Parts: sequence; structure tokens; C-alpha cells
Amino acid sequence: MEVKTLGIVGAGQMGSGIAQVGAACGLTVVMNDIKDEFVSNGFSAIEKSLARLVKKEKITADEQNLILGRIEGSTSLEDMVKADYVVEAAIENEGLKVKIFKDLDKYCRDDAILASNTSSISITKIAAKTKRPEKVIGMHFMNPVPMMQLVEIIKGLATSDDTCKITHDLGLKMGKTPVPANDFPGFISNRILLPMINEAVYALFEGVGTVEDIDKVMKLGMNHPMGPLALADLIGLDTCLAIMEVLYNGLGDSKYRPCPLLKKYVDAGWFGRKSGKGFYNYS
Ligand code: NAD
Repeated sequence: MEVKTLGIVGAGQMGSGIAQVGAACGLTVVMNDIKDEFVSNGFSAIEKSLARLVKKEKITADEQNLILGRIEGSTSLEDMVKADYVVEAAIENEGLKVKIFKDLDKYCRDDAILASNTSSISITKIAAKTKRPEKVIGMHFMNPVPMMQLVEIIKGLATSDDTCKITHDLGLKMGKTPVPANDFPGFISNRILLPMINEAVYALFEGVGTVEDIDKVMKLGMNHPMGPLALADLIGLDTCLAIMEVLYNGLGDSKYRPCPLLKKYVDAGWFGRKSGKGFYNYS
């Protein structure tokens, strides 16, 4: 199967980024969210990101217009009937993702593949709630999508080899390097990254260091391009907490318990960059 039309569910930071790279490699894209306002926010993020690429002379103004012209907005999931391949990038919540996949299963063509950009939730579990578990897969892009090289491809227990091959080829077409991972909580990327971020929050919670000093140690001492607390703000503290809860519940080991300070920030609505405040202030 050749993927020509890509459906995106959720036009937040990840969904809009995936829509952008999909359109940039020549696909027609249908970008869906629950409200017009959220779809418009997705378009604004794409316009901003493309404008930066024009400024850096990586694309021309004509290419910018062509890319934008390939993306159609939608607030009805029924529009996904147009898609050969759907990537779901709604918030990190199992109940919500299961509901979206059940609806996609109803509205999408029988031959369409349904992928989730989930950071941690079981692909096997989501797939089992559809009538096409062999066509359900994880396609986990990194943030910011237009800049990052990796796409992690997660094979659920029932995912077919055909679905894996089509997803691998789509990742390459989108300019990414696909890396396969098996379906366990957090896959490879977040099994390793999130416990480190959570530990950085514990170091802050216990007064081992300040926000700035914790990030400075990891940047200057470990050569990380960003400190773990700045990275947590970029990912979204709500998403970080949701991933830690999946690791903790899914692996049953107390070493994955989310730091109480992370919980407190999320309770306060301090989600990081997207809300204007997290470990740093973005107002
Ligand atoms: P976000 O909060 O920026 O965006 C989520 C979007 O989903 C919002 O626009 C919201 O309105 C929309 N949404 C909620 N319910 C919906 C529904 N029923 N139908 C359609 N849209 C709906 O979140 P994000 O950072 O883009 O994360 C999205 C997904 O990508 C999550 O599963 C997250 O774990 C995963 N992910 C995030 C990162 C990251 O660094 N933030 C990296 C890789 C993967």
C-alpha cells in the first residue's frame, strides 16, 4: 500500500509537527482536533516553524505555501475516511486513546493503518479494542518533530509485518530514521529518558540543587544539549507525569514512582512551556 493521505488526530505540539513533516514530504494531510481553535493553533505552529525554515533558507517561500496548501483542517473524526494512514497524537491518556481508536476503527477504510504517537501506553491494549489489531502500531516521533531524527516504531503483539514495513517506509519518506522497539511501558526512549527526568525532579525536591544548577550539571558535565528540567518543560509536565504513571503501574517497580513535586506542578496547571510556567517561567 502506498500512503498518499495522512490523517492526524490532535493538533497540539506533536500533531502539528507530524502534519508539517508529512506535508513537507508530499503527502496530503487531514489534521483533526476537537475544536476549531485547537486546529487553528496547530496551523499557527506550522506557519511559525515553516517561516523559520524560510529564514534559514532551508526551504523557499513557494515551498512553504505548497506545504501549507497540502494540509486540511478538521473537527470531525469522520473525515479520517480520506486517510490511508492515521497518526493519533491526542493527550497521553489511555481511556481517551482507546475511545479515539474505537471511533477511527468505525470511520476509517478497512485497509487504513492506525498508528499512535503515544509516549508510553500499550499498543497491544489499544489494538485489542479495534477490529484490526494487525493494522495498529506505535509511530513515536520526538519533539520538536521537524528537527528530530528519530521515529521509534512499536510493534504490538498482533501488529503484522506488513504494517511494520509500511510504517518503516513512511518514517523514511518523512525524513526520519526508524528504530524498532517492542511493546513494553515507555518503549526504549521513555523507559530511559523519563526516569532520568523524574530523578532530576527528585534532586530539586530534596534540595540537592537548584533548577539552574541541576540543568547546568547535565549540560556541562554530561554533554546533554538541554538540562532534564528544561526538557521536562518542553515535553510538558502533564505528559511526563502520565508517562511515569504508565511506567510505575506497568512495570510494578517502586523505582518508577513519580516525584510528588512533579504531581504538585501538574495539579497547579504548571505544564511547562505550553502553559507558560513549569520549572522555568516562559511568560
Ligand atoms: P498537546 O497537549 O500539545 O496536544 C494534544 C492535543 O490533543 C490538543 O490539541 C488537544 O486538544 C487534542 N485532543 C484532545 N482530545 C482529543 C480528541 N478526542 N480528538 C482529537 N484531538 C484531541 O500534547 P503533545 O505534546 O502534542 O502530545 C500528544 C501525544 O504525543 C501524547 O500521546 C504524548 O505522550 C505524545 N508525545 C509527546 C511528546 C512531547 O515531547 N510532548 C513526544 C513524543 C510523543
